[in-house]
Amino acid sequence: MSYQLIDSYGRTINNLRVSVTDQCNFRCIYCMPAEGMVFVPREEILTFEEITRLVHIASGLGISKIRLTGGEPTVRKDFPLLVRMLAGVPGIRDMAMTTNGFLLKKMARDLREAGLKRVNVSLDTLNPETFKQLTRRDYLSQVLEGLEEAEHYFRLPIKVNAVAIRGYTDDELLDFALLARTKPYQIRFIEYMPLDADHRWSRDQVLTGREIIERINAVWPLEPVRRNGSREPADLFRFVDGTGEIGLIASVSEPFCGSCNRIRLTADGKLRTCLFSLWETDLKTPMRMGVTDDDLAEMIISAVARKEPGHLINDPSFVQPERTMSAIGG
Ligand code: SF4
Repeated sequence: MSYQLIDSYGRTINNLRVSVTDQCNFRCIYCMPAEGMVFVPREEILTFEEITRLVHIASGLGISKIRLTGGEPTVRKDFPLLVRMLAGVPGIRDMAMTTNGFLLKKMARDLREAGLKRVNVSLDTLNPETFKQLTRRDYLSQVLEGLEEAEHYFRLPIKVNAVAIRGYTDDELLDFALLARTKPYQIRFIEYMPLDADHRWSRDQVLTGREIIERINAVWPLEPVRRNGSREPADLFRFVDGTGEIGLIASVSEPFCGSCNRIRLTADGKLRTCLFSLWETDLKTPMRMGVTDDDLAEMIISAVARKEPGHLINDPSFVQPERTMSAIGG
């Protein structure tokens, strides 16, 4: 009987998100300050061998799915080599990546050949001006080209993660819905969460999942897709006329923490049991001090035993983590 990581709320943890760098070639306003961040020094970033060792240990504890994130994972030097190393880890059944898509046109083929099967592309707007406003970069066309390239190499539909922010992108819901109806893309609308470096998040900027569905449904009727026990964060809806699907990740208005199956490894080797954790377990320092795989496994098991019941965004006691999204990974 293979080991299973089960937390104190009875949730089985089988999904590890691995941030391979805190660096990024974008400067999204809900993630990084304009002037950028003080990035983690190179020597403090986990090496490919260290990441692979920790994923090996985690797979022995029942982790079967990994998602590679950043910052922006594709900016890490020789990234396809890491993908190839992780693709060889026994027990890892599924490996996906979340990317801003900028380098996807150039790297899609190499990443596929290295063993990557799925990609999620973060794209919050289809309007070049809004894109510049949100990312502080003029790269929309490169991202759209990257998406097109991805269609040839990765599992379809390609998932597009669109953070919906009132006052920025709420007028583009139908444009994105049209994209889901006309391209092999599953558009997943994500509610805006308080993880920004400038701590400027406010609840009235949150476009709730209910609102998004109602507005699209009024034009193109939608019906919920049965979840069949899947513990993926997104609620799925298909267009009644059968042309495409959209997803909803309503983390703020309809939290799904009760079925959370995820933990995270930061680029500098800290284990986080929740996106909004206020504490972390340092795996890098003991690893570099020469502890055994069993010792590291014990540290992961005891961290999961302390995994939070959920985020407290809707609770007056909520404290935003010091780490920004770019240093945690989506
Ligand atoms: S907020 Fe934390 S507990 Fe809730 S789903 Fe996300 S990672 Fe899991």
